[in-house]
Amino acid sequence: MVSPWRIRCRDCGSVSVLNVSYDLSEFTRLYHYCRVCGKNTYHEIIEPSE
Ligand SMILES: [Zn+2]
Repeated sequence: MVSPWRIRCRDCGSVSVLNVSYDLSEFTRLYHYCRVCGKNTYHEIIEPSE
């Protein structure tokens, strides 16, 4: 099952939604591509989007 999570880029602060099939609550941060920064950055996991 895929669920949306809200994540925030630690470099620029932009919030985006990431659809993943695993439980992100076990993570404190995530290395992910930021479209605003144009590169992979660390993201904070905020909360489930729904
Ligand atoms: Zn960013």
